Amino acid sequence: MTLRFRNAVAALALLSAEASAQEQPRPTNCESAPLMAAWNEFGEKGKVAQFLEIAVSQKIEPYKAFDNVYYVGICWVSAWLLTSPQGHVLIDTLYEPYTEQLLANVRALGLDPKDIKLVVITHGHFDHAGGAAHLKSVLEPGTRFAMSREGWREAAEEAALSATRPRPWTMIEPDIVLTDGQVVTGGDVTIQAFETPGHTMGTVSFAFDARDGARTYRAFTVGGLGLNRIRGPDQVEAYIASVKRIRALTQDGDRPVELHIATHGFSTGLTEAKDRLKTRKPTDPHPLVDLPGFREQLDNLQANAEKRLVVEREKKAN
Ligand SMILES: [Zn+2]
Repeated sequence: MTLRFRNAVAALALLSAEASAQEQPRPTNCESAPLMAAWNEFGEKGKVAQFLEIAVSQKIEPYKAFDNVYYVGICWVSAWLLTSPQGHVLIDTLYEPYTEQLLANVRALGLDPKDIKLVVITHGHFDHAGGAAHLKSVLEPGTRFAMSREGWREAAEEAALSATRPRPWTMIEPDIVLTDGQVVTGGDVTIQAFETPGHTMGTVSFAFDARDGARTYRAFTVGGLGLNRIRGPDQVEAYIASVKRIRALTQDGDRPVELHIATHGFSTGLTEAKDRLKTRKPTDPHPLVDLPGFREQLDNLQANAEKRLVVEREKKAN
């Protein structure tokens, strides 16, 4: 059976399970298609699907994606570890109760969480920033944390709002304040920050090198993908400008971006692509390097945002 077909079957099985037992949890193997469906539901209704709350569906095996890039996240949301002999950089923190899972994932890969020198956080939503407080309490005292100025503000705001909600969390005090174009390092890992407001106004994206044998690729993490918490047309306009800017970075003459290391793996079919890593032959292309796919994803994000802009403008006018 092809991967695509297997996913379609899995998605159908989930749909029929849902029809027969509305309130039953829906465990998954983290296939991209049903998660993408849940994501779209999330975007429209702002409600996290029930199965995303279930630990069994969240746990996935950590893996080496590139020689210096490791996946240490859960099913719903990514955490990426960029490594060097002098120390590591972590992108995003997950959220409780999964931050211990993140640390266990790092150890399972033969790496030591105490070698994490820098934690960069894409934006202030709980699933990306919610684990910062726990990480700060267990990592080495000198470990630095970085967000944009607005990112720190929105994370504090989100944490404060969560106090009366089912998933309360706390945020750490601001540390490094990232500005557009800034290059930060942790160990020997160098990462460049881009302020890409839209998903939230504090969202930051990151460019870094991903090594695959003799080849070094310019990888890019888009800091926020969804339009699930839009507060008006200005935010959608910022989102569209950011997506266009990232699209231009894939054509940048100097070091063009070549692949997307996503904050939500289902958005790029990561579960299926990483399975191809296991059976990859030395002459095969790297299954996570898909520049046409990345550009198509950006074009789709832009097209959806342009539709949303019309809706938000109408809302504002009425
Ligand atoms: Zn978010």
